[in-house]
Amino acid sequence: MAITDSPSLGAQTKTEAEKRSDADDWAVEPASGAKRVCYYYDHDVGNFSYGIGHPMKPHRMRMTHNLVLNYGMLDQMQVYRPIRATKTQLTRFHTDEYIDLLEQVMPETAEELTGGGTRCLTGEDCPAFEGVFEFCTISAGGSIGAAERINEGSADVAINWAGGLHHAKKTEASGFCYVNDIVLGILELLRHHPRVLYIDIDIHHGDGVEEAFYSTDRVMTCSFHKFGDYFPGTGDVKDTGIKAGKNYAVNVPLRDGINDTSFPTIFEPVIQHIMEWFRPTAVVLQCGADSLAGDKLGCFNLSMHGHGNCAKFVKSFGLPTIMVGGGGYTTKNVSRAWTNETSVMCGMQLDENLPYNDYLEYYGPRYKLEVLSNNMDDYNSKEYLNSIKERIIDNLRNLPFAPGVQMQQVPSVSLGKAIGVRTTSMAAGNEDVDFELDAKIRDIMKAKAAAEGSSDEDEDMESDEDSGPISAFPRLGSRAKRQGGLAAFKGKSPAQSTPGAASARGGAGVTGKGKGKQSAIVQGYTAGFDADARTAAGNGSSTNSAGHVPPRRKRTFFSAQLAGLPPLIPLGRVSASSSTSAVNGRSTAAAHLKQAGGKGGSGGKSGGDDKRSRRGSPMSVS
Ligand SMILES: [Zn+2]
Repeated sequence: MAITDSPSLGAQTKTEAEKRSDADDWAVEPASGAKRVCYYYDHDVGNFSYGIGHPMKPHRMRMTHNLVLNYGMLDQMQVYRPIRATKTQLTRFHTDEYIDLLEQVMPETAEELTGGGTRCLTGEDCPAFEGVFEFCTISAGGSIGAAERINEGSADVAINWAGGLHHAKKTEASGFCYVNDIVLGILELLRHHPRVLYIDIDIHHGDGVEEAFYSTDRVMTCSFHKFGDYFPGTGDVKDTGIKAGKNYAVNVPLRDGINDTSFPTIFEPVIQHIMEWFRPTAVVLQCGADSLAGDKLGCFNLSMHGHGNCAKFVKSFGLPTIMVGGGGYTTKNVSRAWTNETSVMCGMQLDENLPYNDYLEYYGPRYKLEVLSNNMDDYNSKEYLNSIKERIIDNLRNLPFAPGVQMQQVPSVSLGKAIGVRTTSMAAGNEDVDFELDAKIRDIMKAKAAAEGSSDEDEDMESDEDSGPISAFPRLGSRAKRQGGLAAFKGKSPAQSTPGAASARGGAGVTGKGKGKQSAIVQGYTAGFDADARTAAGNGSSTNSAGHVPPRRKRTFFSAQLAGLPPLIPLGRVSASSSTSAVNGRSTAAAHLKQAGGKGGSGGKSGGDDKRSRRGSPMSVS
């Protein structure tokens, strides 16, 4: 367990940190500061298979874990098995229809359920393999849990190598990614963090995450990727976001062969500028390992250390950080890189000779912790990288300095825990949980009201029950009223708020004064934060229609569905290792009775649909 020293951040990083603090007034935590690292792993994850011949091999997570274990790193971290994400959690970003399908689909039924491969699972990149839904709940559960550890301050760094599936879209799988654990993790972070920076060093553009947050300034996405006749085809330097998110999407398009020498010349200054101008309060780093030299699907030339130096550099800023996996198709190198990056975060120096481990024979003939660069040409000239860098830094200068956001009081623990509801055994959909929670919240609100002795308190509480906290959220009031019932508790229809609703920054914070004080707890959970996050996520669709990502297919459900989406209220998180809540599932059950539960996964070979061919190779991605 726990606290680990990071004495050995490496001379290079220290130099970076020093350089930085010399260069400006950005407060950098000493690079040598102790980091508390938590690590998510589920041993089931290695059992899943995308199908014979498919380049994505979940087994690489098991290989990584086995190396981490045999290097003795587990003692340096808080190790968690993720609580599997519930459907409700998954639908904080994805549509109900998509998640329902994912849960029900089996190899044999894929053709039928996807309309002959025309929706949700299209193309052979994303086959309906056996257990696909369970696989997604593990991956997403880890990233959501990681965000919760960061939010509650019990860890400085949280690692989930089963996550990082950055291509998944709101309504469909893409590029080997079915559920976007990163978006779900960031949404969780946004409950507590005003600004989150997402950094993506996978060789493919982080399109799913970018799209989800394309119109918000709460999340800056920054992707370094191969661009030009390469999956997914998006990520041009000129794509910088829309509306409030203008200039909050950063794309660094690269050519083949970028290596340890050239990569830092663009990575470090760009990240440096983002840190200075955007001032994130939390970072999510996607460490896709297909940017390593010799990757089966990649064309970059980074060594293990070149790749790991990105993690070192990000770590040197001393911000709460979630590190997730991603692509990576030469599995023995993926496990090496991620093991090395785990050690970077733990501040451990690893022996170059691999320890004995279950897969030692994979690492021959040298049996070393190394991924070497090769002699391929680097098509990224200095001039090219400079021009890209200048352009990006220029865009960043147009940003308002560290945009503010209206903050609420947010309980430091989950709502379930905060109000003392036992959630350990709550099953999603358990009606009793609902009533119990309602009663508790009502009691707390009444007690608060009595304590504060405000005359209009009772009135407010009534209205809260009927119509949501109107006074606190005037814009949402009438909507919430129409919703009735648990509207207030449900997040007063965050989904319906206009994009600006939550971004009324700089305004007086809704801090429980006057009519707005029904319940600080409830407010803290449901107000601007969530609305903003949800809006941001929801805007992924408009992003498409706005022409950023050329729509590959007509999408039909977003806006209508948004209204019905569950609130972003992770209620009953349970144990320290748990990820979230059944309560949440239930509180939305009313609105989502239709969530039928099919049983996922059994059957034979992949029944993936091949209706649509992808850009590039059929197995083009991730
Ligand atoms: Zn990739």
